[in-house]
Amino acid sequence: MAWFINKYRCEDCGDEWEDAWSATCEDDCPHCGSRHMTPYDSVDLTEFVEESEGQFLVFRSPDTAEDSPDYELIAECPTLEAAEEVLAGRPYQLVQRPDVGASR
Ligand SMILES: [Zn+2]
Repeated sequence: MAWFINKYRCEDCGDEWEDAWSATCEDDCPHCGSRHMTPYDSVDLTEFVEESEGQFLVFRSPDTAEDSPDYELIAECPTLEAAEEVLAGRPYQLVQRPDVGASR
């Protein structure tokens, strides 16, 4: 399933936070409780590439995932180029594995 890290900035108190959702959606300010803040930025982490000990690991959130991305390792590649081929030319994210523990 799609998975996003949404970035928010509260219009009322200026607090900033991030949250992981299966869609780009509104969230409530954890600081002042102001409702329905829309994300000012979203990072699509449905698929991502993580470098580990010289290998490029390709992860994907499967369609069966529901409450968490439940990432599956779908490929281990020797080069970033090979990892990109696994993603079939789709935009990739080279990131640390996102910390998306069960926040909900
Ligand atoms: Zn606030």
